[in-house]
Amino acid sequence: MTPEEKELFEMQWRYSCILWATDNKIKTEKGQEIELKNHRFLKDIYDDLTPIQSVRKSGQIGFSTMMILKSLWMSRYQNFQIIYTLPTFKMASDFVSAKVNPIISHNPLLTSWTKDKDSVFQKRIGNGFINYRGASSTEIQGKEMESGSGIMLSADVLIMDESDRSSQAILEQYESRLSASSYKGKWYFSNPTTPHTLTQQLYEQSDQKHWFVKCDNGHWQYLDFWKNIKDYKFVCEKCGIEITDENRRQGQWIKKYQNREISGYWLPHLICPWITAKQIQETYENKSKQYFYNFVLGLPYIGSDVVVNKDIILRNIDLSEPNFQQNNVLGVDQGFQKHWVLGNKQGIFACGMTEDWQDIEELIRVYDVETAVFDALPDLTEPRKIRDKYPGKVWLNYYKKDIRKADFIFWDYKTHTVYSDRTKIFQQVIDDLVNRKIRFQMKAQELGEYIRQWQTLFKTTEKDSLGIERDVWKSQGDDHYCHATNYFRLALEKTGEGEIKEWQKEEKIYSELTPSIEKMIRENEQYET
Ligand SMILES: [Zn+2]
Repeated sequence: MTPEEKELFEMQWRYSCILWATDNKIKTEKGQEIELKNHRFLKDIYDDLTPIQSVRKSGQIGFSTMMILKSLWMSRYQNFQIIYTLPTFKMASDFVSAKVNPIISHNPLLTSWTKDKDSVFQKRIGNGFINYRGASSTEIQGKEMESGSGIMLSADVLIMDESDRSSQAILEQYESRLSASSYKGKWYFSNPTTPHTLTQQLYEQSDQKHWFVKCDNGHWQYLDFWKNIKDYKFVCEKCGIEITDENRRQGQWIKKYQNREISGYWLPHLICPWITAKQIQETYENKSKQYFYNFVLGLPYIGSDVVVNKDIILRNIDLSEPNFQQNNVLGVDQGFQKHWVLGNKQGIFACGMTEDWQDIEELIRVYDVETAVFDALPDLTEPRKIRDKYPGKVWLNYYKKDIRKADFIFWDYKTHTVYSDRTKIFQQVIDDLVNRKIRFQMKAQELGEYIRQWQTLFKTTEKDSLGIERDVWKSQGDDHYCHATNYFRLALEKTGEGEIKEWQKEEKIYSELTPSIEKMIRENEQYET
């Protein structure tokens, strides 16, 4: 190649990542040339430089490989500073050693680009950098690597891989790193989890490109699992003839919404020509619905086992029986606003919020509350005053993990403090709602904000300090009423009306407690003096 020819090519490569990758016969982490016959749907995405992008993807479709190449290309040809995040620090480090480094070493061109600075967490290419970081809240606080250099870096582009499985709060913090850039690129892509994540909200606001395919009779359509798979075959929704793998390859991206600034793509397994209708149908039959939605259809899953939807609460409204409003219990969540939930074993008959602890005390008096459980934090003073004024009636709750394997609640009669496991009490309350054990003797219109807050909740999995995965309920917004309901439920349990067998054990004495619980109680006692 003459220098003139080289310059001509360079000019073209500057504008097209896919041209650069194919002209240079770029190889993947497996040492194979990138494959674009079956992955034709990736071509447009290689060259999409829209600043804000959101992608709903299914599993194992070559997307991360594309993003690695695209980020290297961006850094070299656009001189961009890039932060590439994965859900955790460990995943970011594994990603670099299992994917990024093999791609660089299989391509001498890329090796020459990165020779100046090549470490696990940073690659330097020309004037650009790519920094690989984790996006998990515990690590951000705990690791200097994260808080010292991750969040503090400035960037032109954030590439957020598996963004639905990352801490949403940390992703938002990373967004603030774009303020100095004129490009301000944010590319979110993930196997979807729930509809409430940043990625899914951005996708909703995007142009929502669907991969349209044409049957041999000329009918254009995007593939839908329920409409287009019949008897283990892809068929045309309109004329019923089989849709071939070649039809699927020769699709094109069609925007659902014109004139939207955010670029969105949906990549289900249905558009992957190497995945058969039979494989998809079998996965549907054999795997959980959540798995099928997230990893095969590339859709967020909104089944009742992972979110609390409006209907779950509405169908528990029961105005048939009068509520005698006896043996009342109260749950209160703290904050600037105190959210409260009032009821008895028949059901919840009132809820509300107030800025004033006096209103809470008023509720205790007016409704002759038998047991009240308050959130113990953050305000320590006022709740303690009320607790001391109504001895034995008012209890302060601390959420603590893994109180005991078998049970998840401990009542400390000395200090009128209750320790409960956040995840387990949440699960208990949600099971009670699903099984219609918690009723509402309130009108639907009185429950608007209460329902809205429950809808911010979703179930996900998280690794604990021992690396063991467990389900946790998280919120994408305000969840004060949900906690107030947890405390209401604890109060109900205290009166003996809760009917959860595991909870009705004899009170533990201190010597039976694990050392960590003892320590916790001692620490709380110190506050008392
Ligand atoms: Zn047709």
